[in-house]
Amino acid sequence: MSRTLFARLCAAALLFTGCWIAYTQTQAQPLTLSKVKEDLYLIEGDGGNVAVYVTSEGVILVDDKFEQDHDAIVAQVKSVTPLPVKYVLSTHHHSDHTGGNAKFLPTAEIISTANARANIVNHAQPNVAPELAPARVTFTEETAVFLGGKEVRARYFGRGHTNGDAVVYFPALRTIHTGDLMAGTTPLIDYRGGGSVVEWTKTLDAAMKWDFDTVIPGHGAVTTKAGLLTYNNNIAKLRDRAAGLIHQGKSQEDVGKVMAAEFGWGPKSMQAQWSLPGMMTELK
Ligand SMILES: [Zn+2]
Repeated sequence: MSRTLFARLCAAALLFTGCWIAYTQTQAQPLTLSKVKEDLYLIEGDGGNVAVYVTSEGVILVDDKFEQDHDAIVAQVKSVTPLPVKYVLSTHHHSDHTGGNAKFLPTAEIISTANARANIVNHAQPNVAPELAPARVTFTEETAVFLGGKEVRARYFGRGHTNGDAVVYFPALRTIHTGDLMAGTTPLIDYRGGGSVVEWTKTLDAAMKWDFDTVIPGHGAVTTKAGLLTYNNNIAKLRDRAAGLIHQGKSQEDVGKVMAAEFGWGPKSMQAQWSLPGMMTELK
């Protein structure tokens, strides 16, 4: 295998498993900050994408990566404003999005869906160390934060990646952060965390009704509303393909082979381990 091909395969494997490398993570990757729109920045590298919204009264973050990334996140925020982080809106319970909670809690309010909080409290993601700190403030449908004359909304549209995914909306900037309802190139359905491939497309259909043109995914590059639509259509295609095979009586192994060939669910991917068995039951 050529070195380039090997590197590409490694990159693809990292993308697919990005959500789940929490407890195998030993060294923080360097973080980078880029501007998305006026007063809105993206911090990438190691764990999920962090959105930074700067206001005259402090900063609103979306997600806070792993515990080990806290200091680097704070340093990146300091490069664009001297004001402190006041709120962290959590998109869901996974440790690559909530690992920094414990370190932000003494000085910031953390807000998540009630289900995301319950998933942390009930250890829905196994083998996470250090222990995750849940949000102190929760919502079941929609909430909003108003700070320095700016507004950010967070809404639960239904199940998908988990049963507690919030989509975060910056109305003045016509931008959303999807959490892992969009992540990488293929969906990871966390059945242990209440995810559903059947509900996922309905959840994104509902989110698409918001007025926006820019999308920050949970992992991967910033995209457009059209990019999110393409991603959602691919989930529908994957779901229908799997359902067709399952209704023909195909085994999990056979369905897995098709998912690997057509949707990038390689045998070592987290999708093969965490999504395939649950999908066999859900789509029966
Ligand atoms: Zn996730």
